[in-house]
Amino acid sequence: MKTVKSQFKFSGGVHPDYNKELARDRQIEKMPVPPELVISMSQHLGAPAKCLVKPGDFVRRGQVIGEKNGFISVLVRASADGKVKAVEKRIGPAGGKADAVILDTTARPEAPAEGESGASALAPAGGPVLPPLDWKSATREELLKRVEEAGICGMGGAGFPTAVKLNPPPGKRCEYLVLNGAECEPYLTADYRVMLERAPRIRLGVEIMRKILGGPAVRIAIEANKPEAIAAMEAAFADIEGNVEIVVLPVLYPQGSEKHQIYATVKRIVPEPPALPIDVGCVVENVGTVAAIADAVELGEPLLERVTTVSGDAVAEPKNILAPSGTKYSDLVAFCGGEKMPPAKVISGGTMMGFAVSTLEIGTTKTTSGLLLLSKDRVFQYSSHACINCGRCLRACPMGLNPALISKAVDANDVKAAEDAHVMDCIECGACSFGCPAYRTITQSCRRAKNSIRARIAAEKAKAAAAAQKK
Ligand code: SF4
Ligand code: SF4
Repeated sequence: MKTVKSQFKFSGGVHPDYNKELARDRQIEKMPVPPELVISMSQHLGAPAKCLVKPGDFVRRGQVIGEKNGFISVLVRASADGKVKAVEKRIGPAGGKADAVILDTTARPEAPAEGESGASALAPAGGPVLPPLDWKSATREELLKRVEEAGICGMGGAGFPTAVKLNPPPGKRCEYLVLNGAECEPYLTADYRVMLERAPRIRLGVEIMRKILGGPAVRIAIEANKPEAIAAMEAAFADIEGNVEIVVLPVLYPQGSEKHQIYATVKRIVPEPPALPIDVGCVVENVGTVAAIADAVELGEPLLERVTTVSGDAVAEPKNILAPSGTKYSDLVAFCGGEKMPPAKVISGGTMMGFAVSTLEIGTTKTTSGLLLLSKDRVFQYSSHACINCGRCLRACPMGLNPALISKAVDANDVKAAEDAHVMDCIECGACSFGCPAYRTITQSCRRAKNSIRARIAAEKAKAAAAAQKK
């Protein structure tokens, strides 16, 4: 194992204020289970899970309450014991609505009558949810199955089903496993704390993933502004065998983007969508996800909780909190001592790629890396103006796009022009909007165009399928 400096700098990128000092030295604190959880069936990329419970049911921690609903989907387990109060549509961290199980965690099942279903069908409390596996003697298939049944998806934000990612299609081979420890989003320190406090779990997760993937080389990518995390990884991986490198990346947003990590570590370029990292022989996984794989295999512990950074100048005590999935934002804030002042803006995620939310009654998911409460001093009020053709967004775009052209096309309702300008290649990093002197909401325009293009493609596919059925 050796530590090297990245030799490959991508073009574009920006330097926002990182503001990580608010939470970076706060050890991970495990939060007690709150009285109510809002557990979404859509915590991952792909089809939402199909809900298996109904109001009145009692569930045990770890019980499957939502089954996988397609190839790109992930099952959902209850993150605590409790009684289902309701199953209803709720707003998620990104603003969209999805089915959610509202769980009263204070309720306990009454002794069921002979032959009754419900509580009698529940697994006994305590002990591991799944039988622990010896990863050295387990087969690749057993390990893959464990990742799937543990309900693991990418915890860095995208939520791609991990079992799918670790099982490349025929003809594709993983040559490099890239661990994403960049955490380049301002304010967020959850991954940083996981690297400091759970380094041996990350090491074990890497060994398991290498076995599943057939022994690829490993690159652990960390930005240079996290020397303590680099040292923790160096200590944990010191005696690992094989081709393993810690790659120290320049501090530049969006260094944590999958495509830019691949370029910075192994100088390979992922082509335009629908191409994936595996098309250039790479699998990228967030450090928290890797630790979750170790827990699922060695401890039999599915992905039921995660570390979330709660930060910003309007929260009393910023923290890195280990909380069960479905913990409401209001409970996270209460665990931080409440609000220091009324927040002018609440952001689910980081300031660059996160989503402003208007309520704290949203439950966390497997991908909730941060919750920010910002005062009016930290929130810039603006109105957008016409583009002045300064070119700043072109220089900032790490994908080499022309964001000004795309945003003008969207303003003119010309989605075709946005598509011709390769908007589908946009990674929604926000670097273009960040420096725009006309305060244009360019990233939102890109999102809008991408959504319309996806909707059009889905409609075309449905039409083609219906026509094929008629024949
Ligand atoms: S156009 Fe997309 S990829 Fe380029 S800077 Fe803007 S948000 Fe990022
Ligand atoms: S940064 Fe803003 S004003 Fe400058 S070219 Fe881009 S969209 Fe236009």
